[in-house]
Amino acid sequence: MTNSSTKYIFVTGGVTSSLGKGIVSASLGKLLVERGHSVTIQKLDPYINVDPGTMNPYEHGECYVTDDGAETDLDLGHYERFLNHSTSQANNVTTGRIYQTVIEKERKGDYLGKTVQIIPHITDEIKRRIQILEEKKDFDFIITEIGGTVGDIEALPYIEAVRQLKWELDNNAIFIHLTLVPFLAAAAELKTKPTQHSVKTLLEAGIQPDILVCRTEHAINEKIKHKIAKFCNVEKDAVIQSIDAKTIYEVPILMQKEGLDKIVLKKLNTKCNKTPNLLKWKKFLNGLQNPKKEITIGLVGKYVSLQDAYKSISESIIHAGAKKCCKINVEWIDSEGVSMKNLSDKLNHLNGLIVAPGFGDRGIDGKILAIKFVRENNIPFLGICLGMQTAVIEFSRNVIGLKNANSTEMDSKTKHPVIDLMNEQKGLKNKGGTMRLGAYECKLKLKTNIYNAYKKTNISERHRHRYEFNNSYLEKLEKNGLIASGINQKNNLVEAVEIPNHKWFVGVQFHPEYKSTVDKPHPLFCGFVEACINNK
Ligand code: GLN
Repeated sequence: MTNSSTKYIFVTGGVTSSLGKGIVSASLGKLLVERGHSVTIQKLDPYINVDPGTMNPYEHGECYVTDDGAETDLDLGHYERFLNHSTSQANNVTTGRIYQTVIEKERKGDYLGKTVQIIPHITDEIKRRIQILEEKKDFDFIITEIGGTVGDIEALPYIEAVRQLKWELDNNAIFIHLTLVPFLAAAAELKTKPTQHSVKTLLEAGIQPDILVCRTEHAINEKIKHKIAKFCNVEKDAVIQSIDAKTIYEVPILMQKEGLDKIVLKKLNTKCNKTPNLLKWKKFLNGLQNPKKEITIGLVGKYVSLQDAYKSISESIIHAGAKKCCKINVEWIDSEGVSMKNLSDKLNHLNGLIVAPGFGDRGIDGKILAIKFVRENNIPFLGICLGMQTAVIEFSRNVIGLKNANSTEMDSKTKHPVIDLMNEQKGLKNKGGTMRLGAYECKLKLKTNIYNAYKKTNISERHRHRYEFNNSYLEKLEKNGLIASGINQKNNLVEAVEIPNHKWFVGVQFHPEYKSTVDKPHPLFCGFVEACINNK
């Protein structure tokens, strides 16, 4: 049921992809939250995969995991980092999921013999998924970002669904459309025609945008705003400039200056006298933009040519750096390019090293070499998921002397399976959505580096893996100096390891990066960055 007080904001994009719809949505959400409203943001993805969990990061960038174990679009990471509130499965909808539901219903006979069609059955399911968020909590605003670009064939059912919804919601809904205003260097002019055409495409689908957010490299003057307003049937105040920013964290401030939140409230007939209080946000920006120190951290992974693949990790580093007023240069190190020969050149100057999560054996040897180097040279180390697992493999091989110790993911016949498939994973055939996913509790050991970072013993972190630390090797590893510093007590899983006899060497089976936000930079990243600063 629709709660009449909830207002819906639909965000579409035109002209090109990558205009920053996710960041603009997150920034608007932040401004509304700081005015005292409750807000959630949802992403509709027009692809046919049920979720991005099975996609290669080169296709899609990082797969972001929520507390409830949903594998989602990386924009949800931005929503959480900006709004400092958790999203869930309901915040990400894909065409695959929509069709799956409709087809399952059809098989059950729920449509009572009717012909099942895109309109109304697919569009009804889209509308249901948009409004589902309202059933969970009484939000003042639900911002729904529609992925892709208007005019795309695959986005059509979504556009039609939100067109219908606007009328069903008694005008408690508005449309924000993002476009590009390109600068033609030869003519030395900003061009509005692509925006006009993009709005025309929306109009053909029956949607009149209420607000236009125009992405641009150069400031858009009043004359151009007038022109866009006149040709696109919007008020001049509803033409919002979105100029390229040095960091995504400037965007809420820029949107506030342009009055995006004000015009949204006006269009939705919502009175709000409180001005957004962005003091904390500005303090964070100040730490980010006026650093007092500088360090360099290496990040070893196999998708380093596409940094979106490690989005949450790089944002977590930014958050921790801003908190410590420290500029952090990240050197992206391709694990396949690491060899004995170049090891020292690549790593010796670093203040610290992160080894990234991953799947499969490509690049594993480079990760193991890099971990050996930082372990032996007392360089701070943070291993995340596969990074933790490779740290255990490295220690077993090179400190304990367990020749060919490995994870059964890399070598199913290894004599020393120090990392092994979890029991509940054995026998699973389907790849989609079947990992150990989402939030699990972990108890930290006192007097460890990880405990010093969190400053508490009971934590909850998000997971995404199939393999685990093999407890039959625990005693041997601990005797030799790699201890289990975090345990899931329910099923006795080792969730964190560390080497007490090292400056700062921590490996975690979970993904701390999914929970770092601007308001709350993640304690583990802060602890690691501090160790790196001290390792100048
Ligand atoms: N491939 C490993 C596993 O499935 C690690 C996964 C990860 O790093 N997210 O356990």
